[in-house]
Amino acid sequence: MQRPTLTSPLRDAVGVKTADALAKGLDLETVGDLLHHYPRRYAERGEVSDLGALEIGEHVTVAAKIEKITVRPMRQKPRSKMLEVTVTDGRRSLQLTFFNQAWRERQLTIGRWGLFSGKVGQFRDKLQLNQPDYQLLAEPGELTDGEGSNALAEFANALIPVYPAAAKMPTWVIARAVRATLDILADVDDPMPEGIRRRKNLIGLSDALRAIHQPATRGELHQAKHRLKWDEAFGLQATLAMRRLAAAARPATARPLRSGGLLEAFDANLPFALTEGQERIGDEIADEISGEHPMHRLLQGEVGSGKTVVAVRAMLQVVDAGGQAALLAPTEVLASQHARSIRSLLGPMGQAGELGAAEVATKVTLLTGSLGAAGRRAALAEAADGSAGIVVGTHALLSEGVEFADLGLVVVDEQHRFGVEQRDALRAKGGEVPPHVLVMTATPIPRTVAMTVFGDLETSALTQLPSGRSPIATSVVPVAEKPAWLARAWQRVSEEVAAGHQAYVVCPRIGESIVDEEAEEDLEDEPPPEDDEKAKRPPLAVLDVAPKLAEGPLSDLRIGILHGKLPSDEKDAVMADFAARRLDVLVATTVIEVGVDVPNSTAMVILDADRFGVSQLHQLRGRVGRGSAAGVCLLVTDAPAGTKARERLDAVASTTDGFELAQLDLEQRREGDVLGVAQSGRRSRLKLLSLLHDLDVITDARTEATTLVAEDPELRAYPGLAAAVDALVDPDAADYLEKT
Ligand code: ADP
Ligand code: MG
Repeated sequence: MQRPTLTSPLRDAVGVKTADALAKGLDLETVGDLLHHYPRRYAERGEVSDLGALEIGEHVTVAAKIEKITVRPMRQKPRSKMLEVTVTDGRRSLQLTFFNQAWRERQLTIGRWGLFSGKVGQFRDKLQLNQPDYQLLAEPGELTDGEGSNALAEFANALIPVYPAAAKMPTWVIARAVRATLDILADVDDPMPEGIRRRKNLIGLSDALRAIHQPATRGELHQAKHRLKWDEAFGLQATLAMRRLAAAARPATARPLRSGGLLEAFDANLPFALTEGQERIGDEIADEISGEHPMHRLLQGEVGSGKTVVAVRAMLQVVDAGGQAALLAPTEVLASQHARSIRSLLGPMGQAGELGAAEVATKVTLLTGSLGAAGRRAALAEAADGSAGIVVGTHALLSEGVEFADLGLVVVDEQHRFGVEQRDALRAKGGEVPPHVLVMTATPIPRTVAMTVFGDLETSALTQLPSGRSPIATSVVPVAEKPAWLARAWQRVSEEVAAGHQAYVVCPRIGESIVDEEAEEDLEDEPPPEDDEKAKRPPLAVLDVAPKLAEGPLSDLRIGILHGKLPSDEKDAVMADFAARRLDVLVATTVIEVGVDVPNSTAMVILDADRFGVSQLHQLRGRVGRGSAAGVCLLVTDAPAGTKARERLDAVASTTDGFELAQLDLEQRREGDVLGVAQSGRRSRLKLLSLLHDLDVITDARTEATTLVAEDPELRAYPGLAAAVDALVDPDAADYLEKT
């Protein structure tokens, strides 16, 4: 009989019955699927296993020693017996109960080690497993166990693989199947090129697969994991490299710099000098959009680092070259602010068709969902006939019927609010020839995420803030412990206003049960509430807080309200009033989170701050301290000291380094949420790679994969590798690349 290979169906290795069970229970179809189903952890006899970490309701497997056995008649049915077995890991104990199975007494003897698997329950304050599955471990020197199983060898190893538990599929059944498979597996052709294996110190695939399931030592296990993790990182990076290459090979219209145009005039009028980073990245972008292949660039930057100017300059270059540029913003507030500020930066150059327009001029058109029919018709016409050089808008830009005469550049602001579908929808408006794309994100991204989730884009980072910015001082106001501090916070707001500045007050909700849809995504981004928070009062709301402030601590001040449910002309009016200092305090939801730019505001009070995520708080406070006066941000919370929520707030208060906070956010969110489908996805093979811990592997794999793909774009010389890459990033899993 032929020995099975990685692509053979499982029944060739383990028989039909087991193969069916593995397919049904774990979705494993091939030998490769099974061998890439890695143990979750490795139990060691005598080592303290984590009996302390058990949670009620969880399905667990523990390695423990039998300590005590009691047989007692059951109260209701005196003729039935109950067997109570106490097992211990040396520190804690766990109760196992079996009904009417006194025969197990013969197997379960005091002092034996076993693996016990079941759902954790509780009985009289004690954790217990009811009717658990179990497998006793071989005594030293013993050849078979009481059940006469011949599968004991797997437990004779020092490290006992424990597979992710699934109902009806206890870990030892999987272990047995794996062992049977490894016993007859044909030699595995290692698809990873020899040179890479040598350079990166990788053991062979065959050895790695054996060792991850049956490690003799921790050292061997480590090498196996290193190798298999490499395969994941490499496969991912090879896919990304191929995508970048394919995208770059497409044609685009070159939009070279032109002298005497809008960009030059714009630069001449800029009230400040560009930062070194803005210059450098500006040149990079200018170069790329001058080329005949589409740019795909991610511009990430610290809050307030001045990304907008970089984008506007790129847009003007395109307009100078005869094309149009579209700027997609996540909220109406932000879209109209962008339109307003671009218009004011352009002055007469942005008033084409109007009285007093400059000789070289273009038109900045705003397109949002709330335009009236006539306004919409006019905006659509301007986009379609090309008279609008710059079209700024919200999702409305993506809708059918929006057409451009010659779309040369798409800018997506605050990418974290958009999916790639939207990026693509807008790109498709370019017609036959795809436009250049610049994606901006204000949330700094940890390097590992930039290289994976955003890995199909070239990236630039603006790390430096324009000079003359004052730092933002952030403090936590713990009202539970220091109720008086809240009064002090309002006093602080009054002082800022008295000094000629303005302030924001941010609440999680609009009204008690009114979620702000424009801000809704934020609430999803929120870290999950902690258990002790479940019974908490509803989050504070703009519509309640504003009148209370107006009657109470801020009664002397002019207070405005802003949230996503306001009609858009009211939103505009409120923002305009605030920008023109006709309002002192703006009570708002997180609609002000992104991009709102009123340099005169210096104070922000965030109520129920614990309801927001770390990156979000960082974003929010970026709204203050945009001018030359020092900013202050007060994080008001009634979360008690010592809770996770308070730790988060303390972290935000302790640093203004967005990259550091992004890393913290990554640590606090489950990584699966970041890599999305890839980690939870059906049969996806990104199992070992961690965005938190594997920066080195990801970086190295990116370098190697990029080089290899540059030499051989379709990996023709490496068919095995091409297949492995394909299998790693199957169409389902590939989706995650798009869900950013
Ligand atoms: P973000 O990167 O968060 O989107 P913005 O583009 O909104 O930041 O810029 C923040 C503020 O900094 C704006 O008021 C902008 O006009 C100003 N700004 C941008 N670049 C500079 C610079 N080089 N020097 C001084 N101010 C700048
Ligand atoms: Mg911005």
